[in-house]
Amino acid sequence: MNAAGKSELYHLVCRECRLERLCDTAGDADAVGRDHADETRHRVVVERID
Ligand SMILES: [Zn+2]
Repeated sequence: MNAAGKSELYHLVCRECRLERLCDTAGDADAVGRDHADETRHRVVVERID
């Protein structure tokens, strides 16, 4: 029951600026968040949305 097409969204939010992004995969959200954290040293959180 784990179809690849099932849509989940990952909502990435920066706690220290207004960055906000919706991503299809956890890996994507993770990469964006890590880039942002690297560049700015901000703290980024990702929450999953069904
Ligand atoms: Zn930020």
